[in-house]
Amino acid sequence: MTQPQDVIKYCPKCGSPHFIFDGSKSFKCHSCQFHFFINSACAVAAVIVNSKGEILLTRRAFDPEKGKLDLPGGFVDPMESAEESVKREIKEELNLDVIHLKYICSFPNEYIFSAFSVFTTDLGYLCEVESFENMHAKDDISGFEFIDPAKIDYREISSESISNIIKASEKLI
Ligand SMILES: [Zn+2]
Repeated sequence: MTQPQDVIKYCPKCGSPHFIFDGSKSFKCHSCQFHFFINSACAVAAVIVNSKGEILLTRRAFDPEKGKLDLPGGFVDPMESAEESVKREIKEELNLDVIHLKYICSFPNEYIFSAFSVFTTDLGYLCEVESFENMHAKDDISGFEFIDPAKIDYREISSESISNIIKASEKLI
């Protein structure tokens, strides 16, 4: 019951209740003709590795999936590039400065927030940081740990898309 067609009842432009889902990916208002598409939102996830080859995983401070392990990252802001977003999120969450980044691959995800399904395209980046010296957990994470990729318990990872990005990155690290 978190799908857009279960949640959205009125036209966001004119407030009409005649806001009809097309059965696929858009709504059309029969009062003002506003046509609203459900598009995928862009999100980024960073794979950061220490000198021992361990991956930096963060612990989620809030729902969804509070307490689970995640890659650092988040939603791309409007009019922001994915690369800028990676750098901003890593600074916000961990106080780390990304100096190099390389695109890995992407996976689709369904992120349920406020009882509403937000569909995302999660872009994975392999990132190198200046140093781990002033690293600390803040923003929407409660902690972090470095884990040997071979020892990751994927049941503890927040989503399938993040698990897939970690697995895809292992060929590159
Ligand atoms: Zn309308």
